[in-house]
Amino acid sequence: ITEDRIMNYPNSKELFERASKVIPGGVNSPVRAFNSVGGTPVFITKANGAYLWDEEGNKYIDYISSWGPMLLGHAEPDVVKAVQETAANSTSFGAPTKLEVEMAELITSSVPGVDKIRMVNSGTEATMSAIRVARGYTGKNKIIKFKGNYHGHGDSFLIEAGSGALTMGEPSSPGVTEGTAKDTLNAEYNNLESVENLVEANKDDMAAIILEPIAGNMGCIPPKEGFLEGLRALCDEHDIVLIFDEVMTGFRVDFQGAQKVYGVTADMVTYGKIIGAGLPVGAYGGKQEIMDYVAPTGPVYQAGTLSGNPLAMAAGYTLLKKLKESPAVYEELEKKASVLANGIGQILKKYDIPHAINCVGSMVGVFYCEGPVETFDDANRTDKELFGKIFHGMLKRGVHLPPSPFEAFFLSNALSSEDITNTLTAYEETIAEITES
Ligand code: PMP
Repeated sequence: ITEDRIMNYPNSKELFERASKVIPGGVNSPVRAFNSVGGTPVFITKANGAYLWDEEGNKYIDYISSWGPMLLGHAEPDVVKAVQETAANSTSFGAPTKLEVEMAELITSSVPGVDKIRMVNSGTEATMSAIRVARGYTGKNKIIKFKGNYHGHGDSFLIEAGSGALTMGEPSSPGVTEGTAKDTLNAEYNNLESVENLVEANKDDMAAIILEPIAGNMGCIPPKEGFLEGLRALCDEHDIVLIFDEVMTGFRVDFQGAQKVYGVTADMVTYGKIIGAGLPVGAYGGKQEIMDYVAPTGPVYQAGTLSGNPLAMAAGYTLLKKLKESPAVYEELEKKASVLANGIGQILKKYDIPHAINCVGSMVGVFYCEGPVETFDDANRTDKELFGKIFHGMLKRGVHLPPSPFEAFFLSNALSSEDITNTLTAYEETIAEITES
C-alpha cells in the first residue's frame, strides 16, 4: 500500500470546495468533514473487499466499513447480485413483499427477545420509534440514556443532563425544545447507582432506559460486570422498558448481538446499518406485547413510504443469511481484532505513550490516556490532538481510520493478515514520525 500516492488530494479538495457551497459543511453527516482531525476529507469513488479508493486513485485499507455494515467487506458479490436482481423488478412498491416477511422471520427466529420487528430507514428512526412505543406502552414519559452513548439525531437523544438537576434536562443542540429536553435524563455509563438515583427521583414517570449495551460511540467501552444485569433488574422492578440500541453491536459482536454475549435480554432492541448491508435501513423490535402497541395493530403511530424497501431487504437479508450460515466469521473477526489491538498496544508501549485499549469481538477502541476507560469522562481524557496526528499519519500511508477519536475501528472480515500487518507497520511508522518530530 506504499505505492506512489497522490498527496494533497487536489481532486478531493476541489470537490470539498464545491460541496461546501451547496451542502452544510460540505458533507451529509458531520463526522465526514474531518472536523475533529482537521484537513480535507478524501472523497471516495469505489470500494472492494477491505479497500477504498479516493478521487486521486489512492488506495486505502478501510477501517470505517461504512461505520459498521461492511462486515464481509465492500461489494460482497452475493449482496451486489441480490441488489441488481431485485432492482430489475423495480426499486420500491409501497406495498408488502415476501422479502420483508423473510427478513422479519430471519431476525425474530435468531435473536433473543424479539417476537416482532418493524423496518424503518435508519438507526435514528429506529430509536425514535422505540421510545415512542415504550412511552405509549407504559403510559409514562421520561427516558434515561447514558452520557457518551449515541442513538442518532432524534430530539430526545440530543440532550445533556443539566448538572445536579435530576428531573430537568437541558438541550445540547439548539432546536431541541425544553419540553422535549425535560423528559430525557442522563446517567453515567457503567454506573448503576447513577441510574438508580434517577429512577428513584422519577419513579412514577419512567418509560424507558435506552443504552448501547457495548458503547461504541465513545470509542469502545464494554459494560462492567453486573451493569446490564442491574439495569434489567431495575426495569423489572419499576415496569420500565429496557431498550438495547444494537445499531452498532447487532450481528457484529455475535449474530445474536450483545444480548447473547452478556446473557441479558432487553424488552426492545434497535438495529440499523448492518441489517441493510450498507443500504439505508433500521429496525426496532421486541416482545409481542409491546410491539402490538404499534399501528395498525395498536395506537402508537409509526410509518414509512420506503420502509422495508426491496433493495435494502435484499441486501440485508443476503448478508444476514451469510453471517448466520458461517459462524466462523465471528471467530475470524475476533482474531483479527485482537491481533490489531495487541499490535497497537505493543507499539504504544514501546514508544511510552499512555493508552488504554478496549476490545469486544470486532470492536476495538484505542484511547490515548491512562486506563481504565469505563465512562464517557474516562474516554474524554483521550489525547485528541495526538489522535489527529495519528489519523493523518495513517491516511498518508494508505490506512483510512474513522476520522474521530471517539469511534471504534470497524473491521471487516475481508481484511487479510497481510492487511493487518501493513496496518501495524503504518502505525509504527506514524508513531515513530510523531515522537521524533
Ligand atoms: N444508534 C447507534 C448505537 C449508532 O451507532 C447510530 C449511528 N452511528 C445510530 C443509532 C443512528 O443511526 P443512523 O446514523 O443510521 O441514523
